Amino acid sequence: MSSEAPPLLLDAMLGRLARWLRLMGYDAAFLADTPDLLIVRKARSESRLVLTRDHALSRHRGIEALFIEGEDIDEQIAQVVEAIGPAGDPPSPRCGYCNQPLIPVDRDAVGDRVPPYVLRTESEFRVCEKCRRVYWPGTHWESVEERIDTIENQGQD
Ligand SMILES: [Zn+2]
Repeated sequence: MSSEAPPLLLDAMLGRLARWLRLMGYDAAFLADTPDLLIVRKARSESRLVLTRDHALSRHRGIEALFIEGEDIDEQIAQVVEAIGPAGDPPSPRCGYCNQPLIPVDRDAVGDRVPPYVLRTESEFRVCEKCRRVYWPGTHWESVEERIDTIENQGQD
């Protein structure tokens, strides 16, 4: 199959998409309120594929860019997955807020930071080492997978 997806750079209109893509395992940098010139510079220096809803930016010389067509988040996710493939096999989820790869940890390490019922019912936990948020499949990356399944099934109808 194809190699890993390229690192991404999303512009200001795509913050919500960036969070979803991170949970799906994509390296998705996000720049809010940033002039196009600086977006272009970062994309070049870090070899990132730019995702944008700005036609002019998507056609900028010297960068790889994907113009995001839909406004609907499901459509946007579907377009990205179709264009560049899955983030990895299996994908490693990243923090939706920091874009940091999540680190698997023992239940004991998060006992004081998750609700008791989650501690009882979930067995797999990951943490973001930057913001210290705790993630688990039931409410986080697994729901992303369900979402993708739904999108793919809809596409086949
Ligand atoms: Zn984080």
